[in-house]
Amino acid sequence: MKKPDFPRTILEFQSRFLDEQSCLDYLFQCRWPDGFICPRCDGRTAWLIQTRGVWECSGCHQQTSLTAGTVLHKTRIPLQSWFWATYLMSTGTPGISAVQLQRQLGLSRYQTAWTMLQKLRRAMVNPERTLLTGEVEVDECEVGGVEKGRRSGRSLTAKAADVIVAVEVRGQGSGRLRMRVIPDASGQTLCGFVRETVEPGAIVHTDGWKGYLPLTKTGYDHRPHSQRAAKRAGDTELIMPRVHRAISNFKSWLRGTHRSISSEHLQVYLDEFVFRYNRRHSPMSAFQTLLGLESHQQPTTYRQIVEQGPRAKKLNLS
Ligand SMILES: [Zn+2]
Repeated sequence: MKKPDFPRTILEFQSRFLDEQSCLDYLFQCRWPDGFICPRCDGRTAWLIQTRGVWECSGCHQQTSLTAGTVLHKTRIPLQSWFWATYLMSTGTPGISAVQLQRQLGLSRYQTAWTMLQKLRRAMVNPERTLLTGEVEVDECEVGGVEKGRRSGRSLTAKAADVIVAVEVRGQGSGRLRMRVIPDASGQTLCGFVRETVEPGAIVHTDGWKGYLPLTKTGYDHRPHSQRAAKRAGDTELIMPRVHRAISNFKSWLRGTHRSISSEHLQVYLDEFVFRYNRRHSPMSAFQTLLGLESHQQPTTYRQIVEQGPRAKKLNLS
């Protein structure tokens, strides 16, 4: 038996995951596509001992939960709600806000919707991701804060954050994307990001900022581009178009989907955008990765989420 495939349409999704049992069946097929295998003794026979998908090996009596290692573990929210939230989050182009999710799933508490989305977002960080290769454009931008020409009172308290972005050049288009919140634009920070993100030997395009100059010494084919020289020649548009497109897409996505977010959670939203961007052609892999069906990451608890800054300052995005 093969791993189950992913519904192509919303109607197919609806008819496939009609109840808790069909969700459990799907989890079973993802975990054990060739039938049950005991993780302890490799035994092939087991019985279901609880309705929530715990299987007991008939040989060694080891109990294995179907949801262990996934975001669904020990949740009291129905699996069907989780499946829908994951579906909406992984297939809708702009993503979904907690208010929208609460409404669409008929959840009584906003907090439940918010926690579900935060958990799914945290599954969007893949610790095993590989380095960008070939030719890469790198640039920084500012997110939030007081934007020029805005007089909204809210922006006065908003704190801007610096973000660095790297995107692969793939012909005329873009390859994979990486984004990170950075504390400053020092050479150490910028070059550190490039080292952790881009394979040595790659061509790295940046602007003319001196912070990027040490890249040549660390094994990159560094190509700085002077914005001023480009302006004189009248072709600023041509300087690193992919990274600028990614930044402007990110900003409009953030503004369109979330009105304001806390600066402490900004990295989580960057990860969400990068995840969607890098999987824009593979919704099935997005769905399974979000549920934790193919990664070995520990799911995040609510406590871990709020400990990272529940009363954080709001970034002004409107
Ligand atoms: Zn066993």
